[in-house]
Formats: sequence, C-alpha cells, structure tokens
Amino acid sequence: MGRVLIIGAGGVATVAAHKVAQNPEVFTEVMIASRTKSKCDKLAQVLNEKYGTQVQTAQVDADKVDELITLFSSYKPDMVINLALPYQDLTIMDACLATGCNYMDTANYEPKDEAHFEYSWQWAYRERFEKAGLTAILGCGFDPGVTSIFTAYAAKHHFDEIQYLDIVDCNAGNHHKAFATNFNPEINIREITQKGLYYENGKYIETEPMEIHKPLNYPNIGPKESYLLHHEEIESLVINYPTIKRARFWMTFGQQYLTYLDVIQNIGMARIDEIEYKAPKADGSGDAVVKIVPLQFLKAVLPNPQDLGNNYDGETSIGCRIRGLKGGEEHTYYVYNNCSHQAAFEETGMQGVSYTTGVPAMIGAMMFLTGKWCKPGVHNVEEFDPDPFMEQLNKQGLPWYEIFDGDLEL
Ligand code: NDP
Repeated sequence: MGRVLIIGAGGVATVAAHKVAQNPEVFTEVMIASRTKSKCDKLAQVLNEKYGTQVQTAQVDADKVDELITLFSSYKPDMVINLALPYQDLTIMDACLATGCNYMDTANYEPKDEAHFEYSWQWAYRERFEKAGLTAILGCGFDPGVTSIFTAYAAKHHFDEIQYLDIVDCNAGNHHKAFATNFNPEINIREITQKGLYYENGKYIETEPMEIHKPLNYPNIGPKESYLLHHEEIESLVINYPTIKRARFWMTFGQQYLTYLDVIQNIGMARIDEIEYKAPKADGSGDAVVKIVPLQFLKAVLPNPQDLGNNYDGETSIGCRIRGLKGGEEHTYYVYNNCSHQAAFEETGMQGVSYTTGVPAMIGAMMFLTGKWCKPGVHNVEEFDPDPFMEQLNKQGLPWYEIFDGDLEL
C-alpha cells in the first residue's frame, strides 16, 4: 500500500520499524536512513530475521537539506517518518516540500542553541504544504501524540465542552541505574530543566522548574509525586478546543532522579552553550582548544536509553484526566494506557518509553497510508478523526482504558 522512509535508528525508530514490519499489508516498502548507517543495517538485519522483511538502508545527515533531497528523490517515499531529533524537523520538512513527500514527526522543532518549545516554526509551513497537496502530521508519539488523540476522542464522544485538561505521565519503571534518561538524554534534560508553564483562563502562567507538584494515583501503580512541566501539546490543544479553561501537564520523577538532575545543573553540565576545552593533541605536542557543549558531553557518558531495556521492570501509565460538560451536567473522564517495560523489551528489544512513542508513530503513518488521515497542510494529531487511531492502539500493543466520573484528584 505504501513506501515509507524512516529517518533515525535510535530507540523510538527501532520500535516504529518493528511495528512497520509487523504490518506488511500497509507498509509494502521500507527504508531506514540515519547519520550512522551501521545502526540502520543492524536494525534491518533484526527485522529480516524476525519478520522476513526486506528493508533498504542509507546514510544521511538530516541537518543537510541537499543530502535529504538527493535521498528522497531517489527513494520516492509516500511518507517520511522523522524519528531523528527535533533539531532536524525543519530541514526534513524543507526536503519533503522540494520532493513532494508527506511528513510526520513525534516532537516539535527546537533550535540547537535555545531550549524553546513551540509550534510556530512548523506551523509557518502550513500554506506551503497545503499548496503542494502534501500532509504533514506533527507530534505523533505518545505525549505529544496519543494524549492529544485521547483528548480528541473525549471531545468527540464524551463531552459537549472540555473545560479542564490534565495530562498525566507516570514512569513507574526501574532500570536499576543510578541515573539515566528514557529517551535521548540531551533532548530530555533540555525539556525538564525548563520553567514550568500551564494555561489558565486564556493566558499562560510560568512557574519555576518543578515548582508545582503533588502526589497523584496511577492505575495499577499507586501514588507518585507528579511535577507540572511545560509540554508542547498544550499549545495546540487549547487552540483546537477553545472551551478549555485550564490545561496542564504532569510528569512523575523519583527523588533520586531529581537529586542527580540538581547536581548536573549546579555543576554546569546541563549547559547548552559552547565552552572551550583543552584537549591533548593526538601527536603529543601539547593541547588544542576545542569547543564542546557540556550537555552533549554528558550525553556521551550517560547510559544509552536503548540499552536500558534488558533490566527494566515496572510500567508506564500515561493518560488524560478531563472535566467538562455533557448535556449541561459536569462529568469527569480519565483515559489512559499502561505499558510494561519488560513486555516492550521482549517484543522489540527497547524499553517502554521508546515503545509508547514508536507504536503511535507507526499508527500515524498507517492512518495516512490507508487514507484516513490525509489532509494537505500541517496538522497536529487532534485535528484528525481519533476513532481509527484509537482502534489501532488496542490492536498494536497499547490498549487503553476509561474511568467515567471518578475522582480526578486535580
Ligand atoms: P535517539 O538518540 O535514540 O535516536 C536518534 C536517532 O537520530 C539516532 O539514530 C541518531 O543517529 C539520529 N540522528 C541524530 N541526528 C541526526 C542527523 N543530523 N541526521 C541523521 N540522523 C540523525 O533518540 P530517541 O529514539 O530516544 O528519540 C527520537 C525522537 O523521538 C526525538 O525527537 C524525541 O524527542 C522523540 N520522542 C518523542 C516522544 C513522544 O512521546 N512524543 C517521547 C520520546 C522521544 P546517531 O545514531 O548517529 O546518533
């Protein structure tokens, strides 16, 4: 039915590629391209051994539009699934426009030199994608992604008016490392060290990082301290559901994780600006001054999130807690998925956070290729029909559950 090109060969891309291979009636041809081709080849070999899938591979630097154009022109994918880093969103979108390819990603664009999370850069491509008759789907992981689809599903089936939205993201897993991040460490630490931000009564309210927190009960897990963070999906959800009076995002962190994070920040290792570092020259003739970004250096010494799966137990629980009106009466609704790290690892060799992101990425591409989510322009996922996506979540390993009129705790 369709030819896809996956860019990136990290944790999320690995899961998405497994899921693509499990759905050969939709994904008839597949290429995986990334900066390090050996990782693509290794993944292609696993997919061939496990599912008999023939996957092409290629080397590409996705920071370079000309390299991307050459690759897209020769492979001619129906859709490019961007599972590299948020820094590459715009170059990949440019190359899609130049070559007539549809586009999808799981995280909004971020400039390398500024940890700033907003959709404006990508929304600026709307008219160009529309005129070209191409679809761009933004933020199709779990959060953003499924959380926005959960909200769209609630709006479609359970509320006349959504008024209060709390997205709650709990990772109650244990990887048995002193400190590790669950996805790309550089991107993750940039995100969680920012100031908090939430939306209330038409405006955004900023908080100090991790300033607001409270224990929340998660299904099958119990109480976990949950911290209010700025998260990108709030920006599009409050526009697409203007009845929302307050929208917030909460994520759980253990005390040990926060202590390490505090130290990392206090000793300057979370800095994203360049510093000069004296490194010994290879020929032994003294030192050379090189420029390094401390956070990128830290990434090089932290555990690779792709290697956490083997010893990871426990589960994630991510969902939406919603309060609003139906038939003039107030109701609450909680829709969530729990995902076991071990089950994810057994199926794909990756832990639950990569799994919960990679599965929705595959489903988003499936929605496009099966004609259910085709709409020229640049769109956030809640702008599409949530029903076929929700149906696939149940079939593809991320079943969801609903609690009606329970205590939301928020
Ligand atoms: P990884 O670091 O594991 O993988 C990133 C991949 O992108 C690597 O294969 C890397 O190649 C490749 N890459 C990086 N730069 C380039 C480049 N210039 N050209 C080509 N390839 C490049 O990250 P994750 O898999 O953990 O995360 C992938 C994406 O998923 C990120 O954007 C992240 O923000 C997003 N995400 C979204 C979530 C959601 O729920 N929406 C949750 C978790 C993650 P190399 O091997 O050479 O470094």
